[in-house]
Amino acid sequence: MRFASLGSGSEGNGLVVEAGATRILIDCGFAVRDAAARLARCGLAPGDLTAILVTHEHADHIGGVAAFAARHALPVWATFGTLAEVSERFEGMTHVYGFDSHNTFAIDALEIVPVAVPHDAREPVQYVIGDGVRRLGVLTDLGVSTTHVEACLSGCDALVLECNHDIAMLESGSYPHSLKQRIAGRFGHLCNDDAARLLMHIDTSHLVHIIAAHLSKENNTPDLARAALSGALGCAPDWVGIAGQDDGFDWREL
Ligand SMILES: [Zn+2]
Ligand SMILES: [Zn+2]
Repeated sequence: MRFASLGSGSEGNGLVVEAGATRILIDCGFAVRDAAARLARCGLAPGDLTAILVTHEHADHIGGVAAFAARHALPVWATFGTLAEVSERFEGMTHVYGFDSHNTFAIDALEIVPVAVPHDAREPVQYVIGDGVRRLGVLTDLGVSTTHVEACLSGCDALVLECNHDIAMLESGSYPHSLKQRIAGRFGHLCNDDAARLLMHIDTSHLVHIIAAHLSKENNTPDLARAALSGALGCAPDWVGIAGQDDGFDWREL
């Protein structure tokens, strides 16, 4: 099993998880050509993908899904709530499948465990994806951690974890007050300290990869995110990977 990011942040997200010949793209917030170019950087063509999994209906996650899936004849999976919110996007497409945010299912070789999260969308989820041996937890776009989230992510072999903002940078930054409140609120995004606290609440003894994701360009820096996560794990800061907006990150093996 291995995984790679096409890019991460408020301008677009996409993450590929592969086990054998099964390759799932989680979210596609990029235009069709851009997504294909980003996949090519990982050595993949769109036709190599098995399916697209959606986390929620915000444009940085779902913006390119329908066009990319239609162009390349890929099935799409999303929660019933997400599909209800954006039903017109998928009109006329036959291979669009809904699921409940608390039900585990499989796509070929990969087991998909949706993780319901508090975020300002209709039925947002994040995912724990496994091949029967290893498990990858992907957690971005949530305002606060919950006992449910922590139970799901505990014991994973790799984590891609939201470090959206540094709280002091957000507070002193240029965003309007209402946007600051939304981002820092219970249905917004995790700050570096929240992500570090989450790590201290779960079993990280199996972790071979930790990657900070969905960093704000305005309100965070890779060094601050690395410092927060490495402080929680007691590891060297440069062991913490960063999912960049432009370059994502290269394949990580599990
Ligand atoms: Zn997002
Ligand atoms: Zn979102």
